Amino acid sequence: MINITIWNENRHEKINPEVQKVYPEGIHNALAAFLKGEFTVRTATLDDPEHGLTDEILDHTDVLIWWGHMAHEEVNDQIVEKVKERVLDGMGFIPLHSAHNSKIFKVLMGTRTGQLKWREADDKERLWVIEAGHPITEGIPEVIELEKEEMYGERFDIPQPEELLFISWFTGGEVFRSGCTYKRGKGRIFYFRPGHETYPTYYHKDIQKVICNAVNWVSPTLNSPDLKLGNVQPLEIKN
Ligand code: ZN
Repeated sequence: MINITIWNENRHEKINPEVQKVYPEGIHNALAAFLKGEFTVRTATLDDPEHGLTDEILDHTDVLIWWGHMAHEEVNDQIVEKVKERVLDGMGFIPLHSAHNSKIFKVLMGTRTGQLKWREADDKERLWVIEAGHPITEGIPEVIELEKEEMYGERFDIPQPEELLFISWFTGGEVFRSGCTYKRGKGRIFYFRPGHETYPTYYHKDIQKVICNAVNWVSPTLNSPDLKLGNVQPLEIKN
């Protein structure tokens, strides 16, 4: 069983009635609700001690999902460093939506801003699958339509994705690289765009399926060999 920790900033939910209406238990619990059927799930939030990301919790985390927006700067740098080390050691990482601006995403991407174009105007979004046969797009229709979402547009300040799985189109005419995979050290990363806090996106069955597939794909490979580094003796004796 894969152990997931869902990390949510959980601030909009505390102060914005519009968000409370969509996610009364918080975005983390909306994500947990559909993930817990298939995985072992715990949640952590910004205001928990150590942001809920103690060594003990991270020791039991195979995959970390991250949702943050208005309080990226409040995330402690030491915890960002700790999460980065875990990812390099093999923990899977799924930054969602506005996590593009989080400290941890920017550090792992090596990007200065992580910025993009955006607009909150009830745009329709069409997410086109552009890689059939990838485990993350398995069982997903060719196009996912979201009636209303925040618009994210290119250019998105990220390094070239290793695999680009989804491209979004918005009614304003913009396009966006919505599903991107990366490897960093032993860790796998999947950035997935949808999920603005005022829209019910995380209740959409296909969006849920993409996130479930992504958890399986980023989870650490079992039995990966322990490859030694540093000074070594030769395997062959020189004549
Ligand atoms: Zn947003």
